[in-house]
Amino acid sequence: MKPPFPRTGCVYLVGAGPGDAELMTLRAVRLLRQADVVVYDNLVSKDVLDFVPPEAERIYAGKRRNEHTLRQEQINALLVKLAQEGKQVVRLKGGDPFIFGRGGEELQTLAAHGVAFEVVPGVTAASGVSSYAGIPLTHRDYAQSCLFVTGHLKDGTADLDWPSLVRLHQTVVIYMGLGGLPEICHQMMAHGADPALPIAVVQDGSLSTQRVVTGTLATMPERVKQAGLKSPCLTIIGEVVKLHDSLAWFTPAMAVTAT
Ligand code: SAH
Repeated sequence: MKPPFPRTGCVYLVGAGPGDAELMTLRAVRLLRQADVVVYDNLVSKDVLDFVPPEAERIYAGKRRNEHTLRQEQINALLVKLAQEGKQVVRLKGGDPFIFGRGGEELQTLAAHGVAFEVVPGVTAASGVSSYAGIPLTHRDYAQSCLFVTGHLKDGTADLDWPSLVRLHQTVVIYMGLGGLPEICHQMMAHGADPALPIAVVQDGSLSTQRVVTGTLATMPERVKQAGLKSPCLTIIGEVVKLHDSLAWFTPAMAVTAT
């Protein structure tokens, strides 16, 4: 008897959204339910992981700041190996895999090894977290553009293009910027931004633990310290933040686990 054809593996790079499992796409849910193995990051919420069937293997890839459980090269190699074993692999990432998610790097390795892959977009934090905080990022009375930047510190300083951040009629959304927030506020004011420019920091957006702290460039570093906010936090800077007071609709205590 001829041996059966080897099953060909595939890696699905799937965005899980910001936390609330109901923000996943239908395609993400379907692929999770069919996965042989799910390789997931720290930002993926427990509610999302509840969609992984008990028989599927789960591999935690880490990625908390300063605590890379698996190094990026190890993750890349693991994905190639699992797919070459014929497995249907879901590589699950918080938010959208192509927005500050290193999804592109992982796909480059898969492509180099001839491994089949697909990408499933997710609701990125800027979009999901701002919605749940009641902050319309481009309300036309206040902003004509919106910038997504990473505030990740390199050598202790946030190495950002400051002049482009302080343009008027613009909203700036900062991913991974909590540690660098004092420096970011300081640099923006030093580059001409109004110290009274509104700013919001949202912790655990869309989850039952969501917290929104608002202030101005001048007051925010102190406020965030006093509030004791913890990662993940998204920072939104711009006049649109004023709308939070009247448009905040989400009561975190009411967040329920999807059944
Ligand atoms: N690919 C992800 C971003 C990964 S970078 C996406 O598209 O959303 C990680 C950063 O995203 C965090 O440091 C934080 O700034 C932001 N973030 C992700 N989920 C968040 C959440 N639920 N609440 C607040 N910030 C979040």
